[in-house]
Amino acid sequence: MTTRNDCLTRDAQDPLAPLRDQFDLPTGVIYLDGNSLGARPKASLARAQHVIAHEWGKDLIRSWNAAGWFDMPKRLGNRLAPLIGAADGEVVVTDSTSLNLFKALAAAIHLQAGHPERAARRVIVTERSNFPTDIYMAQGLSSWLDRGYSVRLVDSVDEIATAVDADTAVLMLTHVNYRTGHQHDMAALSALARQRGALALWDLAHSAGAVPVDLHGAGADFAVGCTYKYLNGGPGAPAFIWVPKRHQAGFTQPLSGWWGHAAPFAMAPDFAPTEGIGRALCGTQPIASLAMVECGLEIFEQTTMAAVRAKSLALTDLFIELVEARCGGHPLGLATPREHARRGSQVSFTHPHGYAVMAALIARGVIGDYREPGIMRFGFTPLYTSHADVWDAVEILKQILDDQAYDTAAERGAVT
Ligand SMILES: *Cc1c(COP(=O)(O)O)cnc(C)c1O
Repeated sequence: MTTRNDCLTRDAQDPLAPLRDQFDLPTGVIYLDGNSLGARPKASLARAQHVIAHEWGKDLIRSWNAAGWFDMPKRLGNRLAPLIGAADGEVVVTDSTSLNLFKALAAAIHLQAGHPERAARRVIVTERSNFPTDIYMAQGLSSWLDRGYSVRLVDSVDEIATAVDADTAVLMLTHVNYRTGHQHDMAALSALARQRGALALWDLAHSAGAVPVDLHGAGADFAVGCTYKYLNGGPGAPAFIWVPKRHQAGFTQPLSGWWGHAAPFAMAPDFAPTEGIGRALCGTQPIASLAMVECGLEIFEQTTMAAVRAKSLALTDLFIELVEARCGGHPLGLATPREHARRGSQVSFTHPHGYAVMAALIARGVIGDYREPGIMRFGFTPLYTSHADVWDAVEILKQILDDQAYDTAAERGAVT
């Protein structure tokens, strides 16, 4: 079995190990929740201070031009693009993932409605196990449109194949499942959508910065995702939306705010969309928050997604191996695929007292999180997680389980 010394040897040979120094992690904490809120790049603090004290404090409104505030959604989008297989001018960092889903979904529906053979399609297919906001936004848009649109929920990949039919306008999927870490085959499912005349919309919330993504190569139609998870943009940092060049001319979305106008400072009374990805924008952005996204992206620019993926698989393999070897007598169930191609960058184990066990782990400095039903989630972020961290986390989990050192009556906070 792998020993702690083996882990230290792997850390010594790990090409990504030096990047950990670019994050500010509290001592005594093993942070396995970068899939929910990424750790803080050290540079974020100085960047935020500069934006607030200098750009806002000294230059005031001149900073919209002088500090490039107005162009930031596009500039950051271009820096993020290589991580997801997108081209220049196809991504903006803006708004929340929920809002970007709304915009992309509305645009996809509109494209289909204008297509001579697809205008009658009224169904959005997605998974029951999708992150709830994705389903809710689709339901909200469908019922609000009041034109017969509905959301069809499916329970398995096999069901997707039958559910996407001649009524389907959009196949809307999350690439890596937030609970289980299951990764879809984006190319195969996008091809399936295309063959059936549907458009494929992908949510990359648990993919961007976590696994290699090739949107163009996979033949996807639209994508959205978070920057505050694996991309380390900071709490509530603006999300992103990808519209490939081939769909930009036909892209219209109902949140037609002035930032998406062809000439925002002409202050014209009528909306006229700008050319290109700018039409995915709506209004004024939270500049301090947006600025910090850049600090996360700068760290990714010092490595490659191939290197990140290699280490991610090494860490998740190691965690599964050690939990199964050291905690084998306990009622733990692996909810994450063993197959590399189907795995994201997290490992989930079920336990009958999952919430209480996770609370005990957090009390001892091993920070993961909990999702219903009974799922303990452990996110592995290769930029700042070491092999020794994995070993130590499993040792603490083993002690908690062996000693039954968890309180099943513990009260739950509002956020689990
Ligand atoms: C985290 C996550 C979101 C979050 O959406 P917000 O609008 O940022 O709250 C949406 N979808 C998926 C799949 C997620 O994992």
